Amino acid sequence: MPSCPQGRRQLRPPDVGTGKIPLPVVDGPYLAIDIGGTKMAAGIVDNAGAFLVRDRVATPTRDVWPALARLVKRVVAASPSLPVSCGVGCGGPMSPIDATVSPLHIPTWRAFPLRAEIEQLTGLATAIDNDAKALALGEAWCGAAVGVHDLIGVVVGTGVGGGIISRGRLLQGRLGNAGHIGHMVVEPDGRPCLCGGFGCLEAYCSGPAIEEETGRPPQRAPLAIMERTGTLVGRALASVGAVVDLKLAVVGGSVALGFGEAFFTSAQRELDSRAKLGYMVGFSVVPAALGQFAPLVGAAALARFAQTPVAVVAPAPPESPTDE
Ligand SMILES: [Zn+2]
Repeated sequence: MPSCPQGRRQLRPPDVGTGKIPLPVVDGPYLAIDIGGTKMAAGIVDNAGAFLVRDRVATPTRDVWPALARLVKRVVAASPSLPVSCGVGCGGPMSPIDATVSPLHIPTWRAFPLRAEIEQLTGLATAIDNDAKALALGEAWCGAAVGVHDLIGVVVGTGVGGGIISRGRLLQGRLGNAGHIGHMVVEPDGRPCLCGGFGCLEAYCSGPAIEEETGRPPQRAPLAIMERTGTLVGRALASVGAVVDLKLAVVGGSVALGFGEAFFTSAQRELDSRAKLGYMVGFSVVPAALGQFAPLVGAAALARFAQTPVAVVAPAPPESPTDE
């Protein structure tokens, strides 16, 4: 069971409007929901990031919502205390205006009103965001990035995504898509990607892309593919780190965590060979400390920090280098 180490600094909530009024942290317990292309998980998470209840089901090819609703009701019924709010991590794209989702890997959900459905089902105020942004928040709350203010969280699994925390604040971007590393170009004349572009990181490193290339599931990928996956992720990270001025990349997802050392050693090697600017020295890539539960704890972090793609976050005030 993951939990926040006692006495360690928690991620500060964002400033709103004037940059001086902090958003309050919402006290738990939280109902956390993670919706992926291959599985859906739900849990009740306490204020320390520990699970009180946890359950999961395979994502069906159709009738996804009824399956999710059953899972959520089961988890809430099994909880020793009622959750006070809900956070949901889901694959993108999504619309921040009406909190609808159209995950690439759930073809039957297009403009699906996920937040409205969950609020109606549970009666809980619900925050929805990209699963990789949720992972970044969760790892900063009680995982591998506790006390780190500048990091990217990356998911390498059925898809490839990312979320960036800069000066302690989750970057949103114009429509909430900031940090989406999966569609960075890593091979200029590379293969076509699901997004319509070509040469994207996701076109090489997602589980389905690896399976299509090798003819076997990622769990049985040859060593050369594991290493190339790490190398390409490291290549993308070198560019992101230079642009956003980061010190840490935390990587989760079934493909990266399954490849393990072959992936992480190759990613760090590529990063070290390309990230030569002074401010990038020491930029490291590490596995998600929350492991396979990182997306679910991340969903709880969405509820805890009450951040949604429409959160109005002011630019960070200048901070001294002694801040961390
Ligand atoms: Zn793409």
